[in-house]
Amino acid sequence: MNDKDVFIQVRDLTVTYHTRLGPVRAVNHVTFDVYRGEILGLVGESGCGKSTLGKALMRMIFKPAEISSGQIVFNGEDIMTYDQKRLRDFRGRVASMIFQDPMTSLNPVQRVDEHLMEAIEVHAQTKQSKGSLIEQITALIERLGIQSRRLSDYPHQLSGGMRQRVMVGLGLINNANLIIADEATTSLDVIVEAKLVDQLREIRDQYGVTILAITHNIALVAELADRLAVMYAGQMVEIGSVYQVFDQPLHPYTQGLLRSVPSIKLSDDEELYKMAGEPPNLTHPPSGCRFHPRCPHAMTICSQKDPDLLEAAPGHFVHCWLYQDHPDKETPTIEVKE
Ligand code: SF4
Repeated sequence: MNDKDVFIQVRDLTVTYHTRLGPVRAVNHVTFDVYRGEILGLVGESGCGKSTLGKALMRMIFKPAEISSGQIVFNGEDIMTYDQKRLRDFRGRVASMIFQDPMTSLNPVQRVDEHLMEAIEVHAQTKQSKGSLIEQITALIERLGIQSRRLSDYPHQLSGGMRQRVMVGLGLINNANLIIADEATTSLDVIVEAKLVDQLREIRDQYGVTILAITHNIALVAELADRLAVMYAGQMVEIGSVYQVFDQPLHPYTQGLLRSVPSIKLSDDEELYKMAGEPPNLTHPPSGCRFHPRCPHAMTICSQKDPDLLEAAPGHFVHCWLYQDHPDKETPTIEVKE
């Protein structure tokens, strides 16, 4: 997509859930790059496929769902070809995932130090002394802003913010290069959430890790992310730098999303916008562009044919007929800033 240092390439990725009502493409032919060391925010309404996409990057898609097509390329290799051993290694040493409720991932009867030591031992090539393990986990936990005396605590004795930082630590302890944070701040109060956002940025700066931050909270990613990817009904509809997407949102869905967030004021006299309609039922998605039944700019072609993801300005991609050549004469002229 451009010549930055690409960490993971996702190409034409589709995840299908096999339901009683038929196949549902929760992620539908999605293509994008994740750059090394960036914080990429992935936003969209609940049910748009963003969490499924995050899990797909870890190959954590299980029956009745499957990755039905596409590639996830890391270091020149498609991780879809990995066997279970390489996959385990990838999940521990390259990528790790943190969820909204860390209690579902932490063992309630295991202390913090036991979690961290176990994480090292599972992926270690050689056996390490207990002294060395304690030294490593103490240094890490203190860098994450948690006092080392908390290492002997059980998960329920920690605050929500601390539990999330322990989850981040479980990834960092094996030098994971990618942290996928799925609604990681959602259950926290606003002050703790703001602190965790600051810490995620610090962690990225200190450790050089790449962070994919999945959230429904577009105001939050404005604070956190370098780039923003917007999903709608299983499709990637826009991707660009935070500045590009906030300053000149191109896709009508992104425009509506931004205008409907109370904390993002496009102008003082603008009223809060309510987007028409509801997200589609993905067992029977609309033909053509999946947003066309709700789109104020829909044209004839929109219900007939799905547009491609097009680079409308350097690094700014949009999936919409408004920016592409087609025979429909209703096309409005929209100037795209470089
Ligand atoms: Fe709207 Fe058409 Fe663009 Fe879809 S392709 S967002 S319906 S203008």
